[in-house]
Order: sequence, then C-alpha cells, then structure tokens
Amino acid sequence: DAGVKNDFIRQIVREDLAGGKHQAIRTRFPPEPNGYLHIGHAKAICLDFGIAAEFGGSCNLRLDDTNPAKEDPEYVRAIQDDVRWLGFEWNSLRHASDYFEVFYLAAEKLIAQGDAYVDDLTAEQVREYRGSLTEPGRPSPFRDRSVEENLDLFRRMRAGEFADGARTLRAKIDMASGNINLRDPALYRIKHVEHQNTGNAWCIYPMYDYAHSLSDAIEGITHSLCTLEFEDHRPLYDWCVDKVDLVNHPELLQPLLDKGFPREAAKPRQIEFSRLNFNYLVMSKRKLLAMVSDGLVDGWDDPRMPTLQGIRRRGYTPGALKLMVDRVGISKQNSLLDISILEGALRDDLDARAQRRMGVVDPLKLVITNLPDGHEESLTFANHPKDEAAGSRQVPFSNLLWIEREDFEEVPPKGFKRLTVGGDVRLRGAGIVRCDDVIKDADGRVVEVRCTLDPESRPGMEGANRKVKGTIHWVSARHAVEAEIRLYDRLFTVPDPDTDEDGKTYRDYLNPESRRVVSGYVEPAAAEAAPETSFQFERIGYFVTDRYDHSAARPVFNRSVTLRDTWSG
Ligand code: ATP
Ligand code: MG
Ligand code: MG
Repeated sequence: DAGVKNDFIRQIVREDLAGGKHQAIRTRFPPEPNGYLHIGHAKAICLDFGIAAEFGGSCNLRLDDTNPAKEDPEYVRAIQDDVRWLGFEWNSLRHASDYFEVFYLAAEKLIAQGDAYVDDLTAEQVREYRGSLTEPGRPSPFRDRSVEENLDLFRRMRAGEFADGARTLRAKIDMASGNINLRDPALYRIKHVEHQNTGNAWCIYPMYDYAHSLSDAIEGITHSLCTLEFEDHRPLYDWCVDKVDLVNHPELLQPLLDKGFPREAAKPRQIEFSRLNFNYLVMSKRKLLAMVSDGLVDGWDDPRMPTLQGIRRRGYTPGALKLMVDRVGISKQNSLLDISILEGALRDDLDARAQRRMGVVDPLKLVITNLPDGHEESLTFANHPKDEAAGSRQVPFSNLLWIEREDFEEVPPKGFKRLTVGGDVRLRGAGIVRCDDVIKDADGRVVEVRCTLDPESRPGMEGANRKVKGTIHWVSARHAVEAEIRLYDRLFTVPDPDTDEDGKTYRDYLNPESRRVVSGYVEPAAAEAAPETSFQFERIGYFVTDRYDHSAARPVFNRSVTLRDTWSG
C-alpha cells in the first residue's frame, strides 16, 4: 500500500472539498465504443473511479457515442465487463447520445447569443481559412450572418435539407487566436447516417469538444480528467461550458428531466494527465483492430493483446494493474515506460496472492527403483510460502514421476546443479534421489531416468537436512493430469515496434515465439481449479487457467509471466 496518495489531481480535489467548492465530487470515464479498452484505459479508469471512491464521490460510465459510424454493442459489453473486472461500479451508465436534444437546444442558445453561426464553406476551405501556427486565420464570409438566418439554417440542417458536408455550425470565437482550437471550431456537422441509439432521429451530429464539455456539465461532473492531448482544448471546453451555462439555464435540461434523468448540472473543471505508454506494445485502437482483422492474433481477447480482455486472459489481475498505476503515478509528462514496470507489478501481485503448485512443461520420466511398483503416498504442501492463511493441500507422490527435461543432463555443463548420472538432487518436499542409470530410445534420447530414493531423507527426517546442490519440482505420473500449456511471450521482438521507420511497421517485428503450445502435466489440485485461477508453478512461472477453454477434464494453462525478467538479463 502506497499510503495516502498525493498527486496533483488529488491535491486539487482535496482543496476543492476542504474549501467547500464542492460538497461531493463526481467524475466520469468516457470511452468511445469503437474498440476494446487497453492497458492505457486502465490508468484512466483507476483515476476516474479510484479518485471518486477515495473521496466519497461517484463516477459515471459514459459511452461517448456521438460519432454514429463506428460503434458496436460488442464493444459496449466488453467495456462494462472491463470496468467491473477492475473492481469498479458506476454511479450511472450514460450515453452521450442521451443528450442530443440538450446539445441542440444549447446550440440554438449560442446562435441566439451571437456565439455561433452556420458556415457554408467546404471542409477544405475551412482548413484553408483557419491559418496555421504562424499565420492568423481569416473570417469566413458567412461569419456575420444574422441570428435569424443562422437559426433558420440550423433548423433546416436538423430537418435534413442539406447534404453531408454542405454546412457546419461553428462557434464564433477568435480567428486570430494563438490557439487554433479557438479559431471558430465546428460544433455540428451534417451526417446522414443512422445512429445505433437514436436511429434516424438526427442527421446532424455534435463535435467532440462541444459534446464532451456539455455532457460533463449535464452530469454534474466536478473534475473531468483526461489525457494531455486535450490540454489545448481546455479553453474551448471552458468556452462551451460558460457560454451555454446550464447551471443558470435549467430550461435547456427539460428534455432530459422529461425522460426521467435527475437534475444535476454543474460547472466542470478539466484536468489533464499524461497518457500511459509502454515499449514492446502497440496500443492504438486502429492498429489493434488491424491486428485482429488480419489474423496476426486470435482476436481482441488473445492473451498477447494489450486489451484488457487480452491481458485478463493472460492472467493479469486487477491488483497488478492498480499496483502498476500507483507506481507509475500521475504527471503532466508523456513518456514511454519500460514494459518491465507492467510485468514487475504482475509478478509482485501474483507472488503475494497466487498459490503454489507443481507442473511440468516438458516432461521426462523418473522412476524410483527402490520403491515398490505401484507405491503411492500423499504429501502435505503449503499453498503459499509466505502466507499461512492460504492453507495446505495434498500432493500425490509415487515411484513414477514426471520431471522437467531440462532438470536432467547426461553431460552436465559447468555449474549445473540439477540431476545427472551419479548425482543427487532433492525432489521438492519428497526426499533426495540419486540417479543410477538412464534409458534411451533408438535415437539416443534419454526417455527415462532411474533413481534411488534415500530413505533417510524423507520430509521431517534428520537426513532431509543433508545438503544437495539442487531442488527440482515433479509430479506423480500416475496422478498428474495432462494439460495444454500455452507459453505466451511478448508479441513484438523490439522495444519500438510502432515507429514505422525504414518502411517497416509493427508487422515486421512480430515475435514468432510469442505463443508456444505444449502438452505438460500438472498436479491434480491445479487441474481442478476454476477458470481464471492464478498459480505459480514452482520454478517455472505464473500461470492462469484459461478463462474460456479450461476445465478440470481438459485443463488449459496460460503463462502470465516468467518468474524473472528473461529479456533484460
Ligand atoms: P485510442 O487513441 O487508443 O483509441 P482514445 O483516447 O481515443 O484511445 P477513448 O475511448 O476516447 O480512447 O478513451 C477514453 C478515456 O481513456 C479518455 O479519457 C482517454 O483520455 C483515456 N485514455 C485513452 N488512452 C489512454 C492512455 N494510453 N493512457 C491514459 N488514459 C487513456
Ligand atoms: Mg477518444
Ligand atoms: Mg481514439
């Protein structure tokens, strides 16, 4: 636990509450339902929901569905699933499209105030007139239309009289502003497209800044947290909120009150923080979509994807993501973080929480020759070395075991501490064996290791304290359950797969080893686990039972992360 968090956003919130600016705070998480949420979104979710919870406030989940073309109910379901998985519950689920009528009334108000006008310039002309950083913009020839003409045209825009792109509604702010966002930005555009929520009721759709600021004001959002790229939009955000002034013009909210929405308007404050970015990952929704549709991965929830659905399947936990967000902290400095921060948070979270089990990924048979054939016993193992409360389990032991192939070497390299002919090794929790002999197949490959168990070295005996160089894990071949083991690794081989340099793209850097599927053996207590149970398979890594494919009869384990960082070694 990091104790009391005191980043600049929490400081603002704390002061606003202490000074009586707000009785309670309200935040929102406003994803656009045009794709799956990714690790970056987890940071926004942890801040929006987390800060609200810490200060006794509330947080809405708002689907920012103002853009009719590219939204899908599949995404909406996944977004809700992701927020709940992270352990948060929304105060109210909203759609920005719920507010279309209010946005419209507010636009008429702006027109009536002389703060907005209908422009007939084409998109290209608008761009041309807008100027650049070094050159001021020029006013549109339609800028000084009368209020009456503007109202008439805007109503006819709504009524569907004009083609897509023929006209826009623009805010009348300042064509000479040093901030290009203030050079009469568009508020509405014409788009004769059906909307999944409002059907064909509208053929004009509000632009992002306008819809976003007013949605915040409508919902009584006090602190509107967003990423740094919106810093330059803040003056426009404030302009929209102030000019429309919902707090003092409750009549604009009437369409919502009629639909049963509560009256909760407030003046929101936008606060920006830096985006979360990691090397070795590609996080833009557009590229993630391409990776899915081109079959580079098995879907949005492929365990190699940085989507929340993907990393969840990989075995990432809400605790690990929260730990990562806390460690990364909040700043106003965008940076590319090292992926080891993410993987380290997962290791630390799982080290504390995941029970230990034994599993063998690449099995080699070990026969204990001085135990009778068919010998079996049940050994008690602690589930967690540092947490007694995790209890213990029974692990079957017999004269016939599977060990990891790499734990035996016929010709051991220098410093090898595991099993070799004539050498001793400790079988974790069972006793010390000496290898007497091996059996090979026709190709000379070792297929069986034959050992004697030191009868004085069994658990609890004096001889168990005898020093041997290595300890290896094992499972009883007669009891172990065959399991599909999916060994996942990073999807890309280079830290910056996303640079598009030298004509190369992320496609050129796919890691051919990012998934290897092998057949291994696990102890019964691992196979029986419910889907999405995380374990440390001793000595080999953290694994999770697959959310969809695992069952006790046909176990499937996904490797979440190795025990140590094998990349930067
Ligand atoms: P992308 O560019 O990946 O498509 P986006 O910003 O368009 O992301 P939205 O659905 O609009 O995605 O995002 C919802 C919220 O999540 C926004 O408040 C946005 O600022 C925040 N967010 C998105 N990506 C990140 C990130 N990498 N780090 C932190 N917050 C993010
Ligand atoms: Mg967005
Ligand atoms: Mg986007």
